[in-house]
Amino acid sequence: MELEGGCYCSAVRYAVAGMPVFKALCYCRACQHVAGGGPQYFMLVPELGFSITKGTPASFARSDLEAAVTRSFCRTCGTHLFTRRPGLDGVILKVGTLDEPGRFDAPRAAIFVAEKQPFHRIPDDLPQFAGLPPPAS
Ligand SMILES: [Zn+2]
Ligand SMILES: [Zn+2]
Repeated sequence: MELEGGCYCSAVRYAVAGMPVFKALCYCRACQHVAGGGPQYFMLVPELGFSITKGTPASFARSDLEAAVTRSFCRTCGTHLFTRRPGLDGVILKVGTLDEPGRFDAPRAAIFVAEKQPFHRIPDDLPQFAGLPPPAS
């Protein structure tokens, strides 16, 4: 699978070779900030096949959190593109930045549902995890 995407203003572009290893909806509080209140659709793609093909994203990690994730975004238009989590092999890619978001197909799980808001709806057919899912077996 080859996927391409980028930010809203196209200053940052990326390419992905290889299959996503996980696809989910994240209801964590941080994703609510980034997504504008809703959960966030993401897919975990192998680090090896991920490359930035244009521009240089800005990155941010909270210094007040232990093992904080690093969030990368376009410094021009502010679009959040991807996240890296310490200890997790792969790039957490925001589905909305794909050139063809429809290729995401569907999430396989809902994660961090302990942090969801009362107005959030979780699709009935998804396994739910209070926080991170257990490591794939
Ligand atoms: Zn941009
Ligand atoms: Zn999240």
